[in-house]
Amino acid sequence: MGGRVTVVGLGPGRADWCLPAVTERLLAATDLVGYGPYLDLVPVATAARRHPSDNRVEADRARHALALAAEGADVVVVSSGDPGVFAMASAVMEALDRAPGDHGDVEVEVLPGITAAQALASRVGAPLGHDFCVISLSDVLKPWEVIERRLSAAAGADFVIALYNPQSRHRPWQLDRAVEVLRRHRADETPVAVGKQLGRPGESVRVVTLAALDPADVDMGTVLVVGSSTTRVLAHRPLASSLYTPRRYES
Ligand code: SAH
Repeated sequence: MGGRVTVVGLGPGRADWCLPAVTERLLAATDLVGYGPYLDLVPVATAARRHPSDNRVEADRARHALALAAEGADVVVVSSGDPGVFAMASAVMEALDRAPGDHGDVEVEVLPGITAAQALASRVGAPLGHDFCVISLSDVLKPWEVIERRLSAAAGADFVIALYNPQSRHRPWQLDRAVEVLRRHRADETPVAVGKQLGRPGESVRVVTLAALDPADVDMGTVLVVGSSTTRVLAHRPLASSLYTPRRYES
């Protein structure tokens, strides 16, 4: 009797930024699996059993969800933001990939959410209006050399760059180093949007220049959007409509 695993994104934190399709699935679930603080963000009251786990145990969590579903449970695995962006959807896919013979009768579905970069963009205008890319600065799952190469290539190709996992207590130097790499390609006055705790209590949003960006203001609850050479600040406008990247690119 195969059950179901749905990997959902709750969005950045606000209940009204979570898709109705996700809340419906949460209400139907028999079991909720996720990082403890994300389970606390679940925007609906449900009687489902909760299986909170620690950070950084994504593979165990994914296997646990599949094992519960194999016994017939209707399991929802919770991520913040979008579950496909540095989150649990890949962990569940990895678990399926590692055990090809298992879980044949478990249905697996992914439901999207608003990712942090989109939430930040919407708070300042339209900085993602042209080509952009998303890079995690965490070197827990990939070597720092790879990160630096990607930063350099993306900055050299003039992408707007969203930076996730910018730094933490365990990784205190990564953002400094990333800014150094970006500044080889970008002017000092390049605008950078800095969003903390978006959609959550204590949210803060600022636009600074690349030269003035202070890594001390940045933590794991922060996402950054670094402008391209065409990203513009409208100094006469309030923050919510102050930053954009034009759709047109003059070559
Ligand atoms: N799946 C998530 C990303 C997980 S990686 C998503 O799609 O948003 C975790 C990183 O995402 C954090 O270090 C931070 O850079 C960013 N992030 C997630 N939620 C955030 C929020 N509410 N405000 C600011 N940044 C956030």
